[in-house]
Amino acid sequence: MRLTFWGAARQVTGSMHMLELAGGTRILIDCGLDYENRKEFENKNANFPFQASEIDLLIITHAHIDHTGNVPNLIKQGFAGEILCTGATLELSDFLLHDSLNIQRMEMQKKRKQSSRKKGKVKFGNIPQPLYAKKHIVDMIQMARTLEIGENYKFNDEVMVSFHTSGHILGAVSARLEVKEEGKTKVIGFTGDLGNYRSKLVPDPIPMKGLQYLISESTYGGRKHITDSRLAEEFILEEVLDACVKRGGKVVIPAFSVGRTQAIIFTLHQLYREGKLPNIKIFTDSPLAIKSTKVYQYNMQYLNEEAKQFQSKYGSLFDFPLLHVIEDERQSEILSVLPEPCVIISAAGMVEGGRIQMHVRNNVGHDENTILIAGFCAEGTLGDRLLSGQDFVEIDHRKRPVRAVIKRTDVFSAHPDHPQLLDYFDRSNDGQLKKLFLVHGDATQMDTLAADVKGCEVVTPNKGQWFDLD
Ligand SMILES: [Zn+2]
Repeated sequence: MRLTFWGAARQVTGSMHMLELAGGTRILIDCGLDYENRKEFENKNANFPFQASEIDLLIITHAHIDHTGNVPNLIKQGFAGEILCTGATLELSDFLLHDSLNIQRMEMQKKRKQSSRKKGKVKFGNIPQPLYAKKHIVDMIQMARTLEIGENYKFNDEVMVSFHTSGHILGAVSARLEVKEEGKTKVIGFTGDLGNYRSKLVPDPIPMKGLQYLISESTYGGRKHITDSRLAEEFILEEVLDACVKRGGKVVIPAFSVGRTQAIIFTLHQLYREGKLPNIKIFTDSPLAIKSTKVYQYNMQYLNEEAKQFQSKYGSLFDFPLLHVIEDERQSEILSVLPEPCVIISAAGMVEGGRIQMHVRNNVGHDENTILIAGFCAEGTLGDRLLSGQDFVEIDHRKRPVRAVIKRTDVFSAHPDHPQLLDYFDRSNDGQLKKLFLVHGDATQMDTLAADVKGCEVVTPNKGQWFDLD
């Protein structure tokens, strides 16, 4: 059996790993978009380093675009095998992939405009097209077979697949494969993305058992979450009281539409039910977040005990009188200049594009406001520039003074940190683990993590590198 790393190898995005079995079965685990470098987007994603039609089974661990974003393109290029994922992953993927296609179209339009300005220099044929069409997303949804956590699925005489709780976001799983080859059974585990321990809404990741090989994410390898003895609800309450009540300002929270937004709304709802939240309006302003919030609400089986108990007591995870949902852009513009104290939760998480950019632009210059960065921001993003402590930031080609309080927290992080990853590896090794492959992480940090792992060989493969698993 051969394992080849075709993506997320010594980088974070573009998850795609291939297993080729002795009997000829080819399995792909995730098929995500590589968006590490915007300029290289088409080169990295348009073509596959293998024949799409030769893949028999595609396993999708969760709905994030860096794990699913190239599936419609795989179908466009001839993949006609089976797709396996959880029901929640399928629901979330449907609209996340449509959103990803819209973003691609907007980028292409921008490029077309730029090229028409430089008439004669760029031929129309050189302008890249979106990677796929709507039809391919529809095909994907129709081709998928849902498998739930704890079920075993016998794909053929060689392979048995089961899904295990990985936390992270709704419906996310780790995939455990039992492969029969030459009379021997080999067990390989793919973590997918793991969740932070004690997360809001989603359960803790549960390590897979009996593994000989483990392929694990390492996003927060080499890093520790900002230590904060306060619980998420204590932290968020303090920030709201400080900005909205003491200073009469706003708390602006950039948050990813899937996962982070729901965790924050749920936390505010908990505070409201406990009678702790002051009487201020909470706005959620992201069309994608509205859709994902519904999927969270109607897929309770994937959520943790705290969420289930809250639901049975109050009848809803997210609905409470202080919460206002912003639907259209006009409402969003009005909100961004609203004078009263309030909380605004909007996408995208790293403050790159999306409606959040407008909210930050209109609120960053006032010292009564707080901008609360609730997660990792890649270098160079507006979120990162805000955190760097500069007196001015450039937003929409204009320098703006930074007078608002800028804060960062990891209480809502969707990934385990360095010590949690080491603990997970320890608990995944019941004495049979031969090799641990680290993927989905920054190259240097991955090496730091690899050096701390005990009890098995650790590899941090390069893109295209393959290993025979015996
Ligand atoms: Zn993810």
